[in-house]
Amino acid sequence: MPTNPILVVHGGAWAIPDDMVEAHLNGVRNAAAAGWRVLERGGSALDAVEEAVVVMEDDETFDAGRGSFLNRDGKVQLDAFIMDGATLRGGGVGCVERLRNPVRAARKILSDSTHVYFVAEGAERFAAEQGIELCRNEDLIIPREVERLREYQAQAETHASHLFAPEISHDTVGAVALDREGNIAASTSTGGTLNKDPGRLGDSSLIGCGCYADNQSAAASTTGWGEPIMKLVLAKWAADRVAAGNLPAWVAKESMNYLKKRLNGHGGIILLDANGRFGIAHNTPRMAWALHTAEKLEAGTERTN
Ligand code: ASP
Repeated sequence: MPTNPILVVHGGAWAIPDDMVEAHLNGVRNAAAAGWRVLERGGSALDAVEEAVVVMEDDETFDAGRGSFLNRDGKVQLDAFIMDGATLRGGGVGCVERLRNPVRAARKILSDSTHVYFVAEGAERFAAEQGIELCRNEDLIIPREVERLREYQAQAETHASHLFAPEISHDTVGAVALDREGNIAASTSTGGTLNKDPGRLGDSSLIGCGCYADNQSAAASTTGWGEPIMKLVLAKWAADRVAAGNLPAWVAKESMNYLKKRLNGHGGIILLDANGRFGIAHNTPRMAWALHTAEKLEAGTERTN
């Protein structure tokens, strides 16, 4: 019997200022609509999360693709992961500097490589061999981020202690989806954290940390301060609790409590199981999210269910 498809996306969890709310809502709505177009014509959850993430990578509002945060050297370095819950195949790229849409390269790894990860130049070389056009790093940099880094570095002394405070932007993007066949998938893409050390890899592209999908448990995508999230292997932590019989809505909330209590971390998560039950939670003031079903497209910047 065909399942009712569903798609959930997020565009980062932090204290999104009032004047940036509209841009975030537009971004997540556009992403959800793009993913939904795939699902409604009978496409796979995997294709749907890829298309949703591409839209947010292309949107300069978010810390993914062009417009991402700059690292300490003033460069964009991107990480992304995509995972298929039906086969457990995954594809990830880390620290890439010349890809407009790192999720496209991640998808190629999942589909066409026997490996799961490629990083830095090796990832770019693999992408180019697969016919993905490379760009210049400068093509990914926008003036807003040059200014943000300049300001940050000028006040580095005072900022150091709260670099990862929820007021600091966490605009990573992600998507989880369930298709008509009953398969789930997840993807996460990010430019990482502001002023990060070159070569630093965050949670987003790490399997089980910022992203995970297994038809037998759940699809998850996280955002927020990456180091605590990866120490807790949070996406897998959440998926395991769904597999144990807990509702995704409850698990999503619990995972945020766990992140806070165990490591004083902050962030957000979207979680979806193969029955279409989902959870959206964050322990930051806001998180941009959107949900698409056959009945409705809903979006918001605050939700804990
Ligand atoms: N989790 C990402 C990282 O640490 C950042 C974010 O979600 O905004 O790289």
